[in-house]
Amino acid sequence: MRLPESPLSLWLATYGPYVPEPALRGDHHVDVAIIGGGFAGLMTAYELKSAEPALRVAVLEAREVGYGASGRNGSFGMTVVGLGFGAMAMLRGRHFLRDAHAYMERAVDAMGEVIAREKLDCDCIRPGFLRTATTEGYVRRLQHDVALMQSLGFHGIDWIDGEALRKRVDSPRYLGAIWEPRLLLVNPAKLVREEKRLAQRVGAAVYEDTPVLEIEEANGFRLRTPEGTVQADKIAFTVNAYSHLFPLLHRKQINAFTYMIATEPLSEEELASIGWQGREGIEDARNLIHYYRITPDNRLVMGGGPVGLRWANDLDADRNEAAWRHLEQHVSFLFPQLRGIRVTHRWGGPISVTTNLTPALGYLRGKRAVYSLGCIGHGVSASHLNAQVLRDLLLERRTELAEAPFVNRRVIPWPPEPLRTTLALTIRSALELQDWMYERKLG
Ligand SMILES: Cc1cc2nc3c(=O)[nH]c(=O)nc-3n(C[C@H](O)[C@H](O)[C@H](O)COP(=O)(O)OP(=O)(O)OC[C@H]3O[C@@H](n4cnc5c(N)ncnc54)[C@H](O)[C@@H]3O)c2cc1C
Repeated sequence: MRLPESPLSLWLATYGPYVPEPALRGDHHVDVAIIGGGFAGLMTAYELKSAEPALRVAVLEAREVGYGASGRNGSFGMTVVGLGFGAMAMLRGRHFLRDAHAYMERAVDAMGEVIAREKLDCDCIRPGFLRTATTEGYVRRLQHDVALMQSLGFHGIDWIDGEALRKRVDSPRYLGAIWEPRLLLVNPAKLVREEKRLAQRVGAAVYEDTPVLEIEEANGFRLRTPEGTVQADKIAFTVNAYSHLFPLLHRKQINAFTYMIATEPLSEEELASIGWQGREGIEDARNLIHYYRITPDNRLVMGGGPVGLRWANDLDADRNEAAWRHLEQHVSFLFPQLRGIRVTHRWGGPISVTTNLTPALGYLRGKRAVYSLGCIGHGVSASHLNAQVLRDLLLERRTELAEAPFVNRRVIPWPPEPLRTTLALTIRSALELQDWMYERKLG
């Protein structure tokens, strides 16, 4: 098994020289084997070893650490989960939304705490989050979301009107926004590789270029890799959008693809023309969101819009010329001041989608295996708290986290093909139709 070659994200392309760990060779015994070296896998190793230093823990990564979404994302460590507040309340109810949002606030704080405590070098800033409205329909949607969250007792989610918003970020399209101070922006490639260092520092072994090819269940688990094996009492699947590659997980999620671009660094005049001195992280009010930020070297990075779906979870879809063109046009749509700006990096990657459009974590095979998946494109902060959940599940601790809202809940499995793709296309079409209606002022 070889995961596809992908165009490098801005973060990976500008990372500098990186020396991966050697692949696993020979036969090894561990207490816990963790499959997948992204935020979730590395932080699970860190949390486990920090809690129980005597445990033997190994992380097995198919490519290099950060190959997956953790090295390619938009860099937003945010409270948003699933499709946003209103959709979550509609799909899962107000109580679930309240618990889910509390979990996500804690997730952002947990991510910030580990970055600060361990002094992780990842260009982390806390500029706050704007969810912007560009039509009156979106204004109504976002104002409803603010009222909903305030009625649930949350503070720090407020409405700001168009004039105040345009003083911060000067787009002629903006009519207002939700303002939420709780947001971290990072360089995700730096962060995930700092987290590898952290996992190693507490004594976990990390193997790169080590795809797990097969898992046999005998006296625990026997994991076969190209040049070796690992016998483990327990395993953790932290492969997120690659989970379908494993028979134990293959109906729990599908992957969908999101795409990103980065411009050349803006000149001082270009930056001045759009304001944005606060460098807030921005998403819009759509279902198929656009998300964008300014990097420390003043590039505009934007992702989202069109979402890719592939038959039978084909993973070879990290490139999408039409989506990249759409993003370039969207930069000009929002900021006519920047028309003609050059795009230097284009990339994309899979996000993990469950049938209920929320994350899922839990036990498999009694309590001998655990998993974390279903980020729906919002897993940067969540994967940090998910790692603490997986720690508690693996150690069989009955903690508050082990009872958290996404843990051990029944999620309807995705059906087999051709129903799987039909259902996914139907959901995407419904979301696109609603966006279209809002943008044609019908919503
Ligand atoms: C383009 C893009 C933009 C995004 N933007 C944001 C954002 O701004 N904010 C946000 O919150 N979320 C965002 N996300 C989602 C977020 O990045 C993910 O939720 C998060 O990084 C998931 O981390 P993870 O550790 O669970 O998975 P991953 O980082 O995907 O790690 C899984 C790892 O498993 C490895 N693997 C797969 N198969 C095997 C195997 N057989 N054996 C061994 N290893 C294997 C993969 O190589 C991969 O490195 C984005 C995602 C994408 C793709």
